[in-house]
Amino acid sequence: MRARDLLCPKPGGLYCAPGDFFIDPVRQVKRALITHGHSDHARPGHGSVLATRETLDIMAIRCGEDFAGSTQAARFGETLTVNGVSVTFHPAGHVLGSAQIAVECGGIRIVASGDYKRQPDATCAAFVPIPCDVFITEATFGLPVFRHPPDTEEISRILTSARQFPERSHLIGAYALGKAQRVIRLLRDAGYHETIYIHGALAKLCEYYESRGVALGDLQPATVETGSKADFSGAIVVGTPSAFVDRWARRFPDPIACYASGWMRIRQRAKQLGVELPLIISDHADWDELTETITETGAGEVWVTHGREEALVRWCELSGISARPLHLVGYEDEGD
Ligand SMILES: [Zn+2]
Repeated sequence: MRARDLLCPKPGGLYCAPGDFFIDPVRQVKRALITHGHSDHARPGHGSVLATRETLDIMAIRCGEDFAGSTQAARFGETLTVNGVSVTFHPAGHVLGSAQIAVECGGIRIVASGDYKRQPDATCAAFVPIPCDVFITEATFGLPVFRHPPDTEEISRILTSARQFPERSHLIGAYALGKAQRVIRLLRDAGYHETIYIHGALAKLCEYYESRGVALGDLQPATVETGSKADFSGAIVVGTPSAFVDRWARRFPDPIACYASGWMRIRQRAKQLGVELPLIISDHADWDELTETITETGAGEVWVTHGREEALVRWCELSGISARPLHLVGYEDEGD
């Protein structure tokens, strides 16, 4: 069997013909295997969904309990058979429950890594490199210019600013699934034990992370109904990036706009968004992590998807690894 007979790109997503399933389909399909809960990967309305327990729970929180006809939970490292094809979920280190999916049939192993990162993250299981014949990698930050500094350094910048401007509030934009919880956890690990105020859109997911053993400390709602401006003097507030442009953001005293994203490496992007304190904290692999991971898997062939594919394909070719872009459409990660 050739690799492309085992998995191939279709308009609906990555399709496994012998197993008759899709991985992270962008259209409604009969059988879906889902790597993680971000909305561009985990869409409602499939006949059946196979994913980790956490991803299934996150989908239920975000899309409603009836998000699929039926569900099955996959445990990390446990091999399941789907129509004669072996599938094994392994941690991807991206957000809680995020998985790479190893698909194996006819002596060929392909690993679809979904979104991943290699920086340590206390809010999810660490990425494990899986030896394979074909490695499918994302390329969100697939350019040598993207190098993420240690997240602890970025967090210490915010704490320094909070000490410097005790009367001002610090408003951190962070994606609701993964990034927000990671930022909160990093603040706690850096010794910040004050109440952290959160936008309502984060509440359920923060509660869920807590229920899975990720301690986030004292969180209080920062809703329009509660509190006056003075209450938030010196406070750290975490909200979704979209909340920045909302009436919601204007209630805080002299706020310092912070934004936690890999895109903050691009100063112009931070400026355009009106971000005063950019935090380069990403849930995606940077250039070094991408190239090191490709090498570690030992894959003879690499398929590159969603992002800046060309540079990574070129790097593989120069390293003697055959590579091609997959040109899958419909993925614009909500958790960069
Ligand atoms: Zn993602």
